[in-house]
Amino acid sequence: MKVSQYGPVQHTGDLLRDERKRPGSQYGELIEKYIKEGAIVPVEITISLLKRAMDQTMAANVQKYKFLIDGFPRNEDNLQGWNKTMDGKADVSFVLFFDCDNEICIGRCLERGKSSGRSDDNRESLEKRLHTYLQSTKPIIDQYEKMGKVRKVDASKSVDEVFGKVVNIFDKEG
Ligand code: AMP
Repeated sequence: MKVSQYGPVQHTGDLLRDERKRPGSQYGELIEKYIKEGAIVPVEITISLLKRAMDQTMAANVQKYKFLIDGFPRNEDNLQGWNKTMDGKADVSFVLFFDCDNEICIGRCLERGKSSGRSDDNRESLEKRLHTYLQSTKPIIDQYEKMGKVRKVDASKSVDEVFGKVVNIFDKEG
């Protein structure tokens, strides 16, 4: 893995949260409504924020043309939007799938909720998010799996173990 080729990790959730709090944003209220409901924000908004962040990184340094995108694509709409906008502009090398039991995920997010200030780190939103994941996101992972692009990591393990596994994957493929 050549770290120098990588731009900063693009967290679609963070991009949306930043846009939500940007003064004068026409999408702020709408984004908050979706996030609180654990629902998926319309792709036009997410992809324009994502593409802008990637374009800005590459404009500042042409050597940074690889990106790890966290939390995308989350549904069929995201996938179609990505294919339409990025056709001929970006290749997906692989998909990192952090496989973890629902209750462990909920427990970790509730723990995070003690200090995160996130409006969706509560049991009600988290259960809706799990429902959204099963209904909308899992089928997208299955599609990438069929293309042989999924690299699965057992995320129930400790932070160090999970990190080690991820580093191995990037060393091999990144
Ligand atoms: P995260 O920060 O990845 O935990 O995502 C928090 C919330 O942000 C999700 O429950 C969605 O409401 C929204 N979100 C994050 N990523 C996306 C995406 N790719 N498309 C639409 N909404 C998203």
